[in-house]
Amino acid sequence: MAKLLEGKPIAEKIKAEIVQEIKSLQQAPVLASIQVGENIGAASYVKSQAKLAESLGVVYQLHKLSQETSENALIAFIQKLNTEKKVNGIIVQMPLPAQIDYKKISQFISPEKDIEGMHPANMGKIVFGKAKILPCTPAAVMELLNSTGIELYGKEVVVVGHSEIVGKPLSLLLLDKFATVTVCHIGTSKAGKLEEHVKKAEVLIVAVGKAGLIKGEWIKEGAIVIDVGINRVGDKIVGDVEFQEASKRASWITPVPGGVGPLTVTMLMRNLVEATKIQTQC
Ligand code: NAD
Repeated sequence: MAKLLEGKPIAEKIKAEIVQEIKSLQQAPVLASIQVGENIGAASYVKSQAKLAESLGVVYQLHKLSQETSENALIAFIQKLNTEKKVNGIIVQMPLPAQIDYKKISQFISPEKDIEGMHPANMGKIVFGKAKILPCTPAAVMELLNSTGIELYGKEVVVVGHSEIVGKPLSLLLLDKFATVTVCHIGTSKAGKLEEHVKKAEVLIVAVGKAGLIKGEWIKEGAIVIDVGINRVGDKIVGDVEFQEASKRASWITPVPGGVGPLTVTMLMRNLVEATKIQTQC
């Protein structure tokens, strides 16, 4: 039976480190959060980020803009925050109103203040193994893997999902550890080859957003399974992997919820501290 790979204990450890780091800075880091319009999802992210920020000693500035804000107006607002010396990190809350393209506006956040690690300059540094600010979900997955004590060198690692926010940057981080990385996506499924790839995974990471996509019987005996997916099924939240069946075969498996999720927001705060250090050169 698999051991549960829970995010919370790891997040607590990292939070304690962040608190110490913040104490050693000259000033408390300032996180500017932009929320455009009213949205229940965005409002709940803001609430949990603000609570975490307060517990760590981070100053959380919430900037609420109207639902009608144009893309150009948001870009101008971001550029103003870019020039404000006391602001160390900028985050734009999702979802955004239809008139705003997140991919476009995220490129206007100064790379030094891009604590989500989504600016092309920060993404590019991952290719060279030089990134200090990593996209939060891939960073969370790497922390979970690290906590199992696994040596990734030479391991067969299969990543299902190739989005810019999870699969693509994660596969580069894994390559940097000399894992043998296979990246699967919709094309793999359409070609009828998903099962074949998943079955050989010593480490399996799934980030698709389809409940039950990965059958429990496909899991290799002793594999580490990290389920990034979040799906609402009835009144429950589940991942992409058939948890019960997979647990009988895996050595470690993340619960959903409670696996990757609790670590992601912690990674955001770690990036903020890193960004502050880069800006103040300490
Ligand atoms: P996305 O929609 O951008 O990408 C989905 C990926 O899945 C694509 O690569 C696509 O090709 C692939 N895919 C789709 N159908 C497939 C199929 N049948 N077989 C194989 N691959 C298939 O999604 P995303 O933003 O990367 O998010 C993926 C999931 O992870 C979602 O459930 C999301 O909610 C969750 N997520 C969780 C966290 C967290 O902190 N826990 C963070 C980010 C995303």
